[in-house]
Amino acid sequence: MNPVTVRGSVTIDTEACKGCDLCIEACKPDVLVMTTDQTNTRGYRFPQLLVGCTGCRACADVCPDFCFQVFRYDTPKTWTVEGGLQ
Ligand code: SF4
Ligand code: SF4
Repeated sequence: MNPVTVRGSVTIDTEACKGCDLCIEACKPDVLVMTTDQTNTRGYRFPQLLVGCTGCRACADVCPDFCFQVFRYDTPKTWTVEGGLQ
């Protein structure tokens, strides 16, 4: 298990997502992954957040459908994780 510094978090409006993958490419720490076996009610895959968000806002800036709300923590947190979603 590895300690991971987490500086922020996001909420994701998965129903508004069109599965375009732009946020996946924009997230430099690679903490967004698209679902592989889940879709929203419109049939699109959507992103899920892994541990390690920096609160950089790149996902929110690139998403054409305004799916993200980004939060930055005043004090970074340390998570001990073995993979998995935040
Ligand atoms: S805020 Fe930055 S680090 Fe966090 S999910 Fe969005 S692009 Fe990735
Ligand atoms: S950029 Fe927005 S619409 Fe595209 S996959 Fe990410 S959340 Fe969905």
